[in-house]
Amino acid sequence: MEIFRTVEQLRQWSRAQRCDGGEGIALVPTMGALHAGHASLIRAAAEARPGRVAVSIFVNPTQFGPNEDFSKYPRMFNADCALAEREGATAIFAPSVEEMYPAGAATFVDVDGLSDRLDGKSRPGHFRGVATVVVKLLIAGEPDLAFFGQKDAAQVAVLRRMVEDLRLGAKIVVCPIVREADGLALSSRNTYLSAEERKQALVLSKAVRRVEELVASGERESAVLMEAARGMFGAEPAVRMDYIELVDWETLLPVLSATHGTLFAVAAWVGKTRLIDNTIIG
Ligand code: AMP
Repeated sequence: MEIFRTVEQLRQWSRAQRCDGGEGIALVPTMGALHAGHASLIRAAAEARPGRVAVSIFVNPTQFGPNEDFSKYPRMFNADCALAEREGATAIFAPSVEEMYPAGAATFVDVDGLSDRLDGKSRPGHFRGVATVVVKLLIAGEPDLAFFGQKDAAQVAVLRRMVEDLRLGAKIVVCPIVREADGLALSSRNTYLSAEERKQALVLSKAVRRVEELVASGERESAVLMEAARGMFGAEPAVRMDYIELVDWETLLPVLSATHGTLFAVAAWVGKTRLIDNTIIG
């Protein structure tokens, strides 16, 4: 497995891969601290493009707010490389902040409207940072497939819009949420949770499951579904709800009733840790 530190190295490697048969590489963008959720993305990428999978590991400063956890975000490069290689990665792209944001960097990508919804509402500037770093990664790596997790469903909506608007040519592949046995969605931030918070955090996946059950039993009205989810949070006073929403997965705008493809998403603070979870109504 090769490790690249510069955009030029990644680009040269990607172009060399493409030469032999025309098919390009698969890219899996991550911030590192890799877990089984990331592993599932890397495996899916390796199945689609065996031997041509780049995993980027970059804690992107522009997607963190001033009071967020950029400096304490978990960094474990060697363990990440081992996991990525085990799952079928053939290249790691781990640039410095200066490589991704040259001195004086002044170019950013704003996905109007979408960027201010769901997590974008609670984390102003977050999706601007995400869109900017992902466009840089797609331009650098020239993948024809880019893998993302449904775990960050609003991020997927923002990136799909951006890829379409900029005609970037990479296809976005979305992989299902990987969960712990008790339902908690895997997240690099779960390592912040104390034992007590870890228990309280289950309210997110429970709310998601409750909504899935209600939908399965025929309930479609957003107000009823959201009220049921809100009720579950009421039983867990230590958890501070950020949002509960039923939205169109393309526009992230609220819907009155859930239909096929509607996104039900929740975000909440457990202690100082902000967690998210969701389901797509199917
Ligand atoms: P991150 O390193 O948190 O930026 O995540 C990198 C990619 O992994 C994103 O596309 C995430 O949506 C995805 N991901 C994170 N957690 C999970 C999970 N539990 N299941 C599936 N994908 C995930």
